[in-house]
Amino acid sequence: MSDLREKYEVVIGLEVHAQLKTKSKIFAPDGNEFGREPNSLTSPITLGMPGVLPVLNREVVNMAILTGLALNCEIPAHCKFDRKQYFYPDLPKGYQISQYDEPICVKGYLDIKGKRIGITRAHLEEDAGKLVHAGADGLAGSSYSLVDLNRAGTPLLEIVSEPDMRSSDEAKEFMETLRNMVRYIGVCDGNLEEGSMRCDANISVMPKGSKEFGTRAEIKNVNSFRALQRAIEYEIDRQIEIVEDGGKVIQETRLWDDNTGLTSSMRGKEDAHDYRYFPEPDLMPLEISRGHVEEIRAKMPELPEQKRVRYIGLGLSEYDASVVVEQMGLALFFDEVLKTGVNAKTALNFIMGEISAYLKEEKTDISETKLTPENFAEFIALIEKGTISNNIGKQIIIDMLKDGKKASVIVEEKGLSQISDEGAIKLIVKRIVEQNPGEAAAYRAGKVQLLGFFVGQVMKETKGRANPQTVNELLKEVL
Ligand code: ADP
Ligand code: MG
Repeated sequence: MSDLREKYEVVIGLEVHAQLKTKSKIFAPDGNEFGREPNSLTSPITLGMPGVLPVLNREVVNMAILTGLALNCEIPAHCKFDRKQYFYPDLPKGYQISQYDEPICVKGYLDIKGKRIGITRAHLEEDAGKLVHAGADGLAGSSYSLVDLNRAGTPLLEIVSEPDMRSSDEAKEFMETLRNMVRYIGVCDGNLEEGSMRCDANISVMPKGSKEFGTRAEIKNVNSFRALQRAIEYEIDRQIEIVEDGGKVIQETRLWDDNTGLTSSMRGKEDAHDYRYFPEPDLMPLEISRGHVEEIRAKMPELPEQKRVRYIGLGLSEYDASVVVEQMGLALFFDEVLKTGVNAKTALNFIMGEISAYLKEEKTDISETKLTPENFAEFIALIEKGTISNNIGKQIIIDMLKDGKKASVIVEEKGLSQISDEGAIKLIVKRIVEQNPGEAAAYRAGKVQLLGFFVGQVMKETKGRANPQTVNELLKEVL
């Protein structure tokens, strides 16, 4: 397959649904919460009772504008809502309120590593409920389904990219960058596994050099970054095989199965007219003043890319800056620590080293640990002053993560402060040299690498508390 791949160019466009983190739903006062008792967040509006009217949630609009601005979009002065007709059991009204030809955000872009990906549009819509296929009928499947309407009417922003991506790596990079961005601006949890962020991938192939895109298939049900990449890779090979065999790719919606690693046809792609869109008569068109857009722009938090550039300006390497920014919890923690004025690089060494390793091992976020930015800053100051050695620091930082004690308290309790007093260290150095006459003679005869052995002995004797530089100097002197 790999040499066949050489003959084709891949074209990918993504449609990403981001669930907005508002308190209530887009058109109803019910709570917008995950994991509540089924059908407990279901007002008559959510249930689509006759005679009820939707009321647009202002916060939903503000979050959509904020996201649009972060995606370099234009926010038209005028947009409107439309009805999209579906007949699904999890959609009690029989239609979804969405935006068809006049979305809230248009014409933007998102920069991924070394490439600009166009954003066609971003529009608001309500989510449907959830069907739970239950009542196992033997081993064969379900004999009935249950519906939970808690999710019905939760606000979604559907972000549609231009078909600008050319590989599964770029698609993954786009999703990761977008996910990080919506998290930083606080509009979405960006959790693919829990479905607060969902992605449909449109994929086509065309002979290299061709000017005309091939027919696309739309892949649904990818709920991790790994699944997105695998599904795209599978789909590229499937489509190339069809074209190589003289067939035609048909435009359709396909479902990814993470267990089998295959996509399968779900339904032929509907055309817009199948949905019988028409302007939503129960909602006024939305007029957004320029003043309001500027008010929201003024509240834009620092974006991940800006943070990265700032960190590089503080002397962090590009790699380190990227790694910290990719983990929002760490970046926010780091920013709090920086406010105290401690040395950024020393702080970063521990964050990237012991702290990251601990978080990875415990599968947790720094905000879940007991380490506060203030305590960490005090710790870094003790290292910088030489009160504790780097090695001791590596030990106590773990205690600080676990039990939240201050570094100065741990040092006091355990007697861990660094011994920098030359007189005291010299006594120990002399003793160690006397106790190891063979090694001392060998060192003097030219086996200089034995210095490490002596340093190790002194450190063992002082339980790692001796200042390593002083130990080195004094050993050379005494030997
Ligand atoms: P629909 O609702 O019919 O899926 P949208 O306009 O919402 O249509 O989304 C179309 C998506 O498909 C966009 O992300 C776009 O970039 C992408 N796309 C369009 N044409 C192609 C193509 N030939 N190959 C791959 N992706 C495509
Ligand atoms: Mg689509």
